[in-house]
Amino acid sequence: MATQESSPRPRILTGDTPTGRLHVGHWVGSLENRVRLQADYDCFFLLANMHAFTTRAEQPKDIRRDTLEIAKDWLAAGIDPERSTLVLQTEIPAIAELTWFFSMIVPFNRVMRNPTLKTEIELKGLGEHYSFGFPLYAVGQCADILAFRPELIPVGEDQVAHIEMCREIARRFNWTYTPVKPESKDEDHLKEGGLFPIPDALVGRVGRLVGTDGKNKMSKSLGNVIYLTDSSKEIKKKLGALYTGRQSMTEPGDTGNALFTYVRAFIKDEQKVKDLEDRYSRGDNIGDGHVKADIATAIDELLGPMRERRAALEGEKGDARVLEILRAHVDKANAVAEKTLYLAKEAMGLDFGRRVLGMEPK
Ligand code: ATP
Ligand code: MG
Repeated sequence: MATQESSPRPRILTGDTPTGRLHVGHWVGSLENRVRLQADYDCFFLLANMHAFTTRAEQPKDIRRDTLEIAKDWLAAGIDPERSTLVLQTEIPAIAELTWFFSMIVPFNRVMRNPTLKTEIELKGLGEHYSFGFPLYAVGQCADILAFRPELIPVGEDQVAHIEMCREIARRFNWTYTPVKPESKDEDHLKEGGLFPIPDALVGRVGRLVGTDGKNKMSKSLGNVIYLTDSSKEIKKKLGALYTGRQSMTEPGDTGNALFTYVRAFIKDEQKVKDLEDRYSRGDNIGDGHVKADIATAIDELLGPMRERRAALEGEKGDARVLEILRAHVDKANAVAEKTLYLAKEAMGLDFGRRVLGMEPK
């Protein structure tokens, strides 16, 4: 693994929080793009284990378990550790330091106005008692991203508001501490001597997959999910519980419902999708059960190869393999993030010498 910062290819940074395991919403929203883009980008995939403490501070064991589970989900889904770098957030101190600097150039009210934070507070039932760190994570996420100075961030739709804040912070940092002017175009920031690129969000094929409750976003904190690790039987059972309100096989159905979101998200054969939509909307002797069975088959086909790859990562041996990869990647991630931090500090008149980080063998 290279320890020097050397990336001829443009960079990607994105990631997941270990608040549970990955689900098919992650696949269509972001993971699918990540796997595909590994060929053309220098990819950094972040395990936001520090941010998991914002809502799970009392569950350190669960956070550790889910950190490894998500890493396994990634590898099973096709993330290649030889090509892409897995970033363990808690081992990258530059991220925490940049969070501090960024929190000083973003107004408090701007953070609290973030619609994704508001929705999360509501959906996760955080009420008035969320931790001080909870809203801070939105700024922290900007540091996660900008520490790697990426061009592209593959995410689901709910993250676009966060990315917008990240873009604002990048602009503001460049205006405040580098020669870039407020009137400069986003695409000219680097040319004009800015430190941070203004990165773009790349939303997946389905930006917000609805959960098996048919209502909310499929979300690992809500339990309305089909996991990437689910068996054929579990997939069928979960889809079986998806209620559409339709009464009979001859009732014209609404192809805008949750069930058909799944049809379009997972059935690859376009003609088959058209036929199902046509028959369902006409009530042509087609029950929800028939549609669910077709969806289950399609999801099963998607998850089959992932299950196989994951089987090799189960148990203690699997844990050891994943930990080995994570530890090996820390140096490469730190080489990039430390350089960004140093350049940021230099721009801010804080260049008192460059430090060296390294991981001791365990
Ligand atoms: P949590 O409930 O803890 O917020 P989550 O299921 O929303 O978990 P995150 O770790 O917050 O998962 O999100 C990881 C990535 O997956 C983000 O880019 C997010 O936009 C995307 N994503 C999450 N859920 C969906 C979904 N239902 N549809 C499409 N993309 C999704
Ligand atoms: Mg989320």
